[in-house]
Amino acid sequence: MSIEATESVPLAGLQRELERQLEERLAVLAELEPFALPSVDPVAYQTAASHRAVVELITAALNRITQGTYGRCTRCERQIAPARLEVLPYAAACIECQSHAEAA
Ligand SMILES: [Zn+2]
Repeated sequence: MSIEATESVPLAGLQRELERQLEERLAVLAELEPFALPSVDPVAYQTAASHRAVVELITAALNRITQGTYGRCTRCERQIAPARLEVLPYAAACIECQSHAEAA
């Protein structure tokens, strides 16, 4: 059995799902962008900023799939819990590191 076959996360399907989410976010951003200025539409500005942050996370997750490091915490390098990845497939850090980051 290869390493890939024992993976708990089906990476090919995941990659497609992430690419789909990325496209969706980019489409929303393209619509928001003309108004997404703090002086024009502060709500659109905030929304665009959060979409842009997720676009970065998804792009990074896709890179990790390509590099074979997907599912590993980018901070402590431990395996991220599969349940967490199911909810948040583009999570870059395990729940512990994430909660430290949020507290800081
Ligand atoms: Zn971690």
